[in-house]
Amino acid sequence: MEAEIQIADGGPPAAPDRPSLVGLDREGFAAVVETLGKKPFRAKQLWSWVYRRGARSFDEMTNLSKELRAALAENYTLDRPAVTVNQRSTDGTRKWLLGLADGSQVEAVHIPEARRGTLCVSSQVGCTLSCRFCHTGTQRLVRNLDAAEVVGQVMLARDDLGVWTAPDEERDLTNIVMMGMGEPLYNYDNVAKALRIVMDPEGIAISKRRITLSTAGVVPLIERCGAELGVNLAVSLHAVTDELRDEIVPINRKYPLDELLHACRTYPGLGTTRRITFEYVMLRDVNDSPAEARELLRLVSGIPAKINLIPFNPWPGSPYDCSTPETIRIFAGIVERAGYVSTVRTPRGRDIFAACGQLKTVTEKQRASERRAAAL
Ligand code: SAH
Repeated sequence: MEAEIQIADGGPPAAPDRPSLVGLDREGFAAVVETLGKKPFRAKQLWSWVYRRGARSFDEMTNLSKELRAALAENYTLDRPAVTVNQRSTDGTRKWLLGLADGSQVEAVHIPEARRGTLCVSSQVGCTLSCRFCHTGTQRLVRNLDAAEVVGQVMLARDDLGVWTAPDEERDLTNIVMMGMGEPLYNYDNVAKALRIVMDPEGIAISKRRITLSTAGVVPLIERCGAELGVNLAVSLHAVTDELRDEIVPINRKYPLDELLHACRTYPGLGTTRRITFEYVMLRDVNDSPAEARELLRLVSGIPAKINLIPFNPWPGSPYDCSTPETIRIFAGIVERAGYVSTVRTPRGRDIFAACGQLKTVTEKQRASERRAAAL
């Protein structure tokens, strides 16, 4: 089977004249209902239509009066971000490239597994962090996504996977990882608003235990993330000395390893059922020696932890290679013998560039070459 790619015509959508309800929180819904002069309980019904049932039109909302439905339709939409590219890998991984109202683009990736489905969600267009091995860091344009654009990724994944009708039985979209483009803790307010919407038990209802936020180490916000949102934390460690981490994860110059590990050690709610995931990208001859594996264990000792080894996913012009399978096996063996759950993340969706900002760039290149061809 070949990977499927659909590219929508016409580029990004024009900014709509009416705002979408998608992305509003409980207070936003209360304000909408009040503006329309309706009783507060209507907000609850509307919420359920939008976030629990995934309604695409106001007409479906049969427990609301015709008059209210008409007033809603006149003033609001239920629009999600537009999908400009929709791809399906031969291994079932799906990827959506979203065309946002200002013409910028981000991606969301869905990874189906035997008993769960994980959606990898973006928090920013591009990223300011410039991690040396990460392709997203090479993109020029950077802006925060708003809450609607973050929630919208989850909604359109549910739309496309068709999982609104029976959310309790549905195994297709059970987990969320904030591991797409961007640094979620640099966009804390919008990400927090979006995740509260996603976690609401009367709506999308994905519990905090099934949500993982990955950070490169924005130390001052880690505690808040745990206390306010209670989601799982993943930390992009990637190096065991400040010297190397300064180079490959430059935010380390601002928040060095001892501060980062202290924030991890004191992350709210840690215990036997909640562990921090330490992500460690395997870069050949850079950070992958047995001595570094042992140092990694020393650094995280005392922290309830999982260790996630990520084979480096190379991109055109990337300055590194992936560690050899044998090196990864030895590294993983050291970590496992110390009693840590370690997972070596298997690359998924490689045929659709489902890692690290790759699709966006590939598509931009395709578009540019199409434009050049058209200009000849
Ligand atoms: N800004 C957040 C989320 C980013 S992406 C963070 O830094 O944690 C999720 C993970 O993919 C991070 O651990 C990131 O370092 C890693 N990553 C980025 N580019 C990669 C590549 N080319 N190969 C393997 N992992 C990569």
